[in-house]
Amino acid sequence: MNGSRVLVLNSGSSSVKYQLLDMADGSRPASGIVERIGEGPVADHAAALKQVADELAAEGLGLDSPELAAVGHRVVHGGTRFTEPTLITDEVVGEIEKLIPLAPLHNPANVTGIKVARSLRPDLPQVAVFDTAFHSTIPEAAARYAIDVATADRWGVRRYGFHGTSHAYVSRATAELLGREPAEVNTIVLHLGNGASASAVRGGRCVETSMGLTPLEGLVMGTRSGDIDPAAIFHLSRVGGMSTDEIDTLLNKRSGLAGLCGDNDMREIGRRMGEGDRAAQLAFDIYVHRLRKYVGAYTAVLGRVDAVAFTAGVGENSPAVREAAMRGLGAFGIEVDGVRNALRSASARLISTEASRVAVAVVPTDEELEIASQTFDLVSA
Ligand code: ADP
Repeated sequence: MNGSRVLVLNSGSSSVKYQLLDMADGSRPASGIVERIGEGPVADHAAALKQVADELAAEGLGLDSPELAAVGHRVVHGGTRFTEPTLITDEVVGEIEKLIPLAPLHNPANVTGIKVARSLRPDLPQVAVFDTAFHSTIPEAAARYAIDVATADRWGVRRYGFHGTSHAYVSRATAELLGREPAEVNTIVLHLGNGASASAVRGGRCVETSMGLTPLEGLVMGTRSGDIDPAAIFHLSRVGGMSTDEIDTLLNKRSGLAGLCGDNDMREIGRRMGEGDRAAQLAFDIYVHRLRKYVGAYTAVLGRVDAVAFTAGVGENSPAVREAAMRGLGAFGIEVDGVRNALRSASARLISTEASRVAVAVVPTDEELEIASQTFDLVSA
């Protein structure tokens, strides 16, 4: 292997994001996004990938460039089969396809991205990095739902967890911020983007996370409900006459902050709260209540917590959410410093008081860097 660059591809259901990273000097020579796949000039994922290849070639950074060492693909669901970054072969593509029933919205786009990229550069090593992989260390007691074991196993019903690349990166970066080895640090990571999830990481290994079989479980999100009594689904079906697909859409797309107040963007919710909007205030209160509940639960899971780390769009940019979510947690040794919390910065930083027993941190996530590093490590091993 000669090159030092990794092309990271994130093929979503309606967009392809790409970033070219140079692992030798840390630079990022190119990045971009092809959106609205299927809605106009970009007919499908194959066309989107070709556009990515053309955009790169136009900048002299084409897929045929000798600098390119590998392509790293984000793959959402690895099931129980994939627990590590994996060199892609025909067999691996087939296994990822077999996981489509577990992630019908995501894995098909991921697979297409892989197939097209391989057809464009068949000789180049390509690596799949799974969103579920970091959570594969979660013990059985936390990963299993308390339902009939044979049924659960037959249909693969268990906690897989998602956003793993981010939780891995942020938990490590938090240890670094504290000047300690990841193996010595217990961290609660709160990834609060449009999707949101919490994880408990003990000494660098994930032991619990809030998303489950799918990304629907856990925290209140932009448009997803998070935790709900599963019997609400039977009720909506039997009494409300809703179909399975309608309930799926309700809980994934018309719930969370959007369902509660009509807005899923925390900036807009903050603005409305400033005007005394009660629906926006209630949505915010439900959002931070759920966060506090998870921090309490994960404190009990970990026993000793060294840090709570906020990341992703809301976690990195909303002092109001951070302050409200940590309020009243003094008994857990958690104390946020108002001045530090209000400071804007793009760097990892502490927002807890000097006296706080638990470090509270804002740690910008970098999933592309994590995917590129894992890819590069694998192909240069
Ligand atoms: P995704 O899950 O799509 O990757 P991000 O991590 O980029 O999302 O987070 C997007 C969300 O971050 C937006 O919906 C918005 O609620 C929130 N956000 C972004 N900037 C700010 C800000 N300055 N203040 C509050 N919330 C913000």
